[in-house]
Amino acid sequence: MNLILFGPPAAGKGTQAKRLVDGRGMVQLSTGDMLRAAIASGSELGQKVAGIMQRGELVTDEIVIGLIEERLPETEAAGGAIFDGFPRTLAQAQALDAMLARRGSKIDVVVRLKVDDGVLVDRVAGRFAESGRPDDNPESFRVRLDAYNTQTAPLLPYYKGQGKLVEVDGMAAIDQVARGIDEALAGVTV
Ligand code: AMP
Repeated sequence: MNLILFGPPAAGKGTQAKRLVDGRGMVQLSTGDMLRAAIASGSELGQKVAGIMQRGELVTDEIVIGLIEERLPETEAAGGAIFDGFPRTLAQAQALDAMLARRGSKIDVVVRLKVDDGVLVDRVAGRFAESGRPDDNPESFRVRLDAYNTQTAPLLPYYKGQGKLVEVDGMAAIDQVARGIDEALAGVTV
């Protein structure tokens, strides 16, 4: 099964993705994690994206599409993929559909974690000190939230139109969100 965990920054996508990895043997594909690894390694790609990420802006579609494409084979050998933080633009969503179709595969379900902007801002203000993420500062977080609202949220009608969108209350306790996701996945026929 291929699942997109959809939602704004700090909605809890990473936390829920890790639980699905542990419970179902799926592979988490987080473009944010891949880009942070590139920065940590000091690679050319890392140097290219560091400033963009620190400001909270999106990196180019080409970069993240390439990162995802490289990792698709390993997800097929496992229980499927959890896309976390990808796609974030319509071009990425269309490229993902095309890449999967070429491999005889598809997105099965898109789970949207719904969280109000005010709750996200409070969450990130609370975690900034310990997260160590330079883009969790209030200014960059505002840019990330704006990028979500203007460039990523418009994907919701795209997936709704495909009949794949399921909504879960992301403001509930972590276990309750997890149950909501499990229920959403139980309703999917692959
Ligand atoms: P995340 O860990 O998903 O919050 O991503 C952290 C940062 O990495 C984002 O603010 C962007 O700068 C960059 N990034 C991650 N995924 C994408 C994507 N799919 N498209 C563009 N930029 C991305």
